[in-house]
Amino acid sequence: MDIRNFCIIAHIDHGKSTLADRLLERTGTISSRDMKSQLLDTMDLERERGITIKLQPVRMDWKGIQLNLIDTPGHVDFSYEVSRSLAACEGAVLVVDATQGVQAQTLANVFLAMEQGLKIIPVLNKIDLPAAEPDRRAEEIEKLLGFPAEDILHISAKEGTGTEALLDCLIEQVPPPEKNRLFSHSPDLFAHGSTRALIFDSTFDSYRGVVSSVRVFSGTLRAGQKLRLLRAGRELLPTEVGFLSPGYTPTKTLSAGEVGYIVTGLKNVVDAKVGDTLYSGTEARPAGLPGYKEPIPFVFAGIYPIAGDDFPLLRKSLEKLVLNDASLVFVPENSSALGNGFRVGFLGLLHLDIVQERLEREFDLDILVTAPSVAYEMVRPNDEIVPISNPSELPDAGKYDALREPWMKVMIFCPAEQVGAVIQLCTDRRGLHKNLQYTDPTRTELTFEMPLASIVTDFYDDLKSISSGFASMSYEPIGMREGNLARLDMLVAEEKIDALSQIVYRPDAHHIGEAWCKKLKDIVPKAQFAIKIQAALGGKIVARETISALRKDVTAKLYGGDVTRKNKLLKKQKAGKKRLKQFGKIDIPQEAFFALMRK
Ligand code: GDP
Ligand code: MG
Repeated sequence: MDIRNFCIIAHIDHGKSTLADRLLERTGTISSRDMKSQLLDTMDLERERGITIKLQPVRMDWKGIQLNLIDTPGHVDFSYEVSRSLAACEGAVLVVDATQGVQAQTLANVFLAMEQGLKIIPVLNKIDLPAAEPDRRAEEIEKLLGFPAEDILHISAKEGTGTEALLDCLIEQVPPPEKNRLFSHSPDLFAHGSTRALIFDSTFDSYRGVVSSVRVFSGTLRAGQKLRLLRAGRELLPTEVGFLSPGYTPTKTLSAGEVGYIVTGLKNVVDAKVGDTLYSGTEARPAGLPGYKEPIPFVFAGIYPIAGDDFPLLRKSLEKLVLNDASLVFVPENSSALGNGFRVGFLGLLHLDIVQERLEREFDLDILVTAPSVAYEMVRPNDEIVPISNPSELPDAGKYDALREPWMKVMIFCPAEQVGAVIQLCTDRRGLHKNLQYTDPTRTELTFEMPLASIVTDFYDDLKSISSGFASMSYEPIGMREGNLARLDMLVAEEKIDALSQIVYRPDAHHIGEAWCKKLKDIVPKAQFAIKIQAALGGKIVARETISALRKDVTAKLYGGDVTRKNKLLKKQKAGKKRLKQFGKIDIPQEAFFALMRK
């Protein structure tokens, strides 16, 4: 059987999903009548936001050759998933919007694909648009990436122009599976007679349990065959194997070179992690597919139910989400201000947004998500490194030698006239300017190194607004670095509010502290005594506000001796108090507090 496995890579909105639709249609995999636009984006959220989160491999037939298309999420938060799906194929179609040209995520994805040794087929999309400049953009691609301009296909995914030429090009140019570049690095993967398959996606389906997308490298997979997971060390007995077309299509076997799905019989996606290798249970433990990584959370936030008694429901909902998303991690946490909730780890900000929206939408939960913080590390005097996912867990200064934070390499594409503003924005946020390159006379690519903490606080919005929406960016981790950091605490009437503790860059502490003091002043109600609001950096007060005293007597308005009326009022006041959060002697209305905490 002749097989070609490929994926489509693109910057967001350059037309990847639309092109996938056209390929499915032209190959007759799905009739135009049944075509819902962007068929591969199955989650409602993906459809609404027009982004791809989950990978859905689909099989087509073109001129008697089996074509397996693996859709990839284009966003940096999910670049590990992208890299695993790239490992499952031999070729990649690179889609570039002919009106916009190469953007930051185009490059990030192309570099990943090049590292993996994939055959890349560049195409310029949206040539139907009057603003398309295919020739100019082709030159740019040649200059930046080295693909000869005259070889670049011009297509319109919307109108279907060039679809056939692209399909022909795929079967001619993408190497067949047996020519896979991993062959020379890891011959064990292709060991004759043995079974080796890469898991590049796992989802939980309430009827089938865990269903994994796989690429078979050698041997065959079949239902009822005893298999083992290399990393997880677990055994499994699949109940079904097959491929998507685009619906589930069971087959007897999946053999070397093929892409398909396997119903694993497992109950938890955490057991069938992306990047793990399946092998037949009867043989000795082989070497796995190279490059396996555990997904690491970079961003943490607290998630709390607005109604305290929703806590068990929140736990259940998170447990359900994790069935589908092995990269999500959470542990219970308790805050004196917010009550019982969870500290949740995410791959990035988009991931956080998606989880928040799914909790609200799919589980109908009313939740509070605290401002995100990055994954810090504390270096102890004995050189022990302790991860800090919640700033309030950080011990007082003196108990540790140093604090470290994640740094990123940030690539930004923007029009040349905005270079100054972009450099200013990045350096204001502790960015180190590394490189500037003109991609054509009017456009530039800038490279910075920047702490992730600077990126999680509205950086992207600011970048978009100073560039009128024209800048694009992508980033990748470059390791942990020591920083001039300390814990900033907020105190109300000398009581620390744990949920507001944050780790900050020391020179910024004063103005961050001031801003929080002002916000707190607005929500803390007056009391019969003056209330101090303070920001403390390592025990030293760096900002303060005072709320003056007010004597409030609810019975003052009443004259005479109507005791029942007076008691009624006092009782009402007491009931009202139940909805307040107490900080030492101070009560803060819970709702105001939640409003303050919203990110
Ligand atoms: P993705 O984010 O790369 O998956 O991009 P989509 O496929 O979701 O497309 C983004 C937007 O561009 C959608 O509004 C599409 O309708 C539009 N689009 C995609 N391809 C074309 C094309 O060839 N011509 C035109 N005019 N619009 C297109
Ligand atoms: Mg898409």
